[in-house]
Amino acid sequence: MTPDEAARLLGACSAFDNRQPSEMGKQAWAAALRDLPADDDTFEAVARYYSAPAQPGETGRRWIEPHHVRTWRTKIREERLGATIPAYEPRNPNETGSDFVLRRRAQLHAIADGRETPIPVGELTGGPHPAVARQLAAVGREIPDEDEQPYMPAGFREEIGYAATPPELRVPCPKDGCRALARQPCKTPHGRRRTEAHQARKDAAA
Ligand SMILES: [Zn+2]
Repeated sequence: MTPDEAARLLGACSAFDNRQPSEMGKQAWAAALRDLPADDDTFEAVARYYSAPAQPGETGRRWIEPHHVRTWRTKIREERLGATIPAYEPRNPNETGSDFVLRRRAQLHAIADGRETPIPVGELTGGPHPAVARQLAAVGREIPDEDEQPYMPAGFREEIGYAATPPELRVPCPKDGCRALARQPCKTPHGRRRTEAHQARKDAAA
C-alpha cells in the first residue's frame, strides 16, 4: 500500500483507538505493509482486530500494529478457503506442471478473494455394499478344492444368482447320442441343449 492508502487505513484505526494521524505514521505503515493491498480485507482486518473477543489475560486498551493487520487479513482469507480444496478441472490436456501451479495459485487467490466458490470435497462415508461386505467376510478362509463349490456366505449365492453345478453335471453323460462331457449340459438328438440331464446320467452321478 502507498503512504496515502496507509493514511486511510490509520484513519480507520483511529476510529477505534483515537490515535492521531501523523506523517511519520503513514510512512511507517506503508513501509511495513508495502506488499499488502489496501483492499476490503485489509480494512476488515482492522475491524476484526478491535472486535475480537478479549483473550484470557488480556489487559489494557488494544493498539493495532501493522503485524496485526497482516495476521487478521490472512485469517479472513483463510476463512474463505475453509477446509475446502477447489476442484481441479483440467482445462487443457497439454498443461504442464508449471502451468498448473500458476493456474492453481490463481484459483486459490480467487477463492480467498471471494471471487470464486470452492467446491467442498465430500467425505466418503459408509461401508461397502452388503454383497461386498459378505465377500470380505470370506477373506482369509481356506480356499476350497476345485471340485467343491466355492465358499459363499449365507444368502450371497442367491443374491448374485449363482447357479451351483448339479451333481449329475459333474460326470459325463453315458447315454448314446448325447455323451455330454462333465460340466456340459445334455443334448437332444438334434444337438440342442436339454434343460434336464438324462436319467442315465443322474443314475451315474448317484
Ligand atoms: Zn445326456
